[in-house]
Amino acid sequence: MRKIVLSIILLSIISLTLTGCFNENDNSMDKKSTITIYTSIYPLYDFTQQIGKEKVNAHLIVPPGAEPHDWEPSAKLIAKIEEADILVYNGLGMESWAERIISTVNNPNLIIVNASDNVALLKMEDDEHNHETSHQHEEKHHHTYDPHIWLDPIRAIQQAENIKNALIKADISNKDFYENNFLKLKDKLLKLDEEYKNTISQLSRKEIIVSHAAFGYMADRYKLIQLSVSGLSPQAEPSPSEMAKITDFIKEHDIHYIFYEPLSNPKLVEVIAKESGIKTLPLNPLGNLTQEELSQGKDYFSIMQENLDSLKKALSE
Ligand SMILES: [Zn+2]
Repeated sequence: MRKIVLSIILLSIISLTLTGCFNENDNSMDKKSTITIYTSIYPLYDFTQQIGKEKVNAHLIVPPGAEPHDWEPSAKLIAKIEEADILVYNGLGMESWAERIISTVNNPNLIIVNASDNVALLKMEDDEHNHETSHQHEEKHHHTYDPHIWLDPIRAIQQAENIKNALIKADISNKDFYENNFLKLKDKLLKLDEEYKNTISQLSRKEIIVSHAAFGYMADRYKLIQLSVSGLSPQAEPSPSEMAKITDFIKEHDIHYIFYEPLSNPKLVEVIAKESGIKTLPLNPLGNLTQEELSQGKDYFSIMQENLDSLKKALSE
């Protein structure tokens, strides 16, 4: 009982203090000084937070823990997104729902950012990983280009710049604030690139076997060779001949590790690992984080660091 009373008193003090703050800063807390921005997937959300900081009210559309490829927003959420100042999406088929919102939205003031604008894109290889289902067939035209841009820190700079430009467009009075924060983020991405380059260039192996083909841009930047179990879509099932191709590849290149993704079912990767007598390691495509990872304070940079540790282990043994 005493604890409860104490909590109530504490809460009252906190709320009084907060009210005080808001009153003092009445002018700067004017509703118009906060930009409401909806971002589709985690990396774009993280970049937005780092550029907009307290000047933006940033929302992540795909909820923590959800696999972003097959996720769909509710009508209620779509209505909220349409009332925002800015919508940021990745494009290239990553969010088919965003493309639908864009074609039907009835808010002329909504600034829509396709984060892949001006990025040097990579075509998807239409190769052996041609897992046809009727759904994929319909969506196939979206998959001409690989959407997983953010896994290359250098291309991610362009995505961050696209977000920064939209923030300036929506809120010109804070232009210098957004420019400065963007430059800091750019600097961190350049340092990350340096670390990847220096580390990976010294590793003897270059072949990575991943769950789905999310690491094409990373492979392109650091001269890795990516082989995926399920192609571009995490849900696709490889055929027995494709499975055989992967186990042959493992033997041929004397590979010791296969990578799984925290948000995808690890079963196939585990089957391959067991059959080939090799081990598994995580490699996070960062399309989303789990609630647990977010509570632990993990973000784009800490997970890119964990990914580099996994690559280092797998490619040096
Ligand atoms: Zn993906």
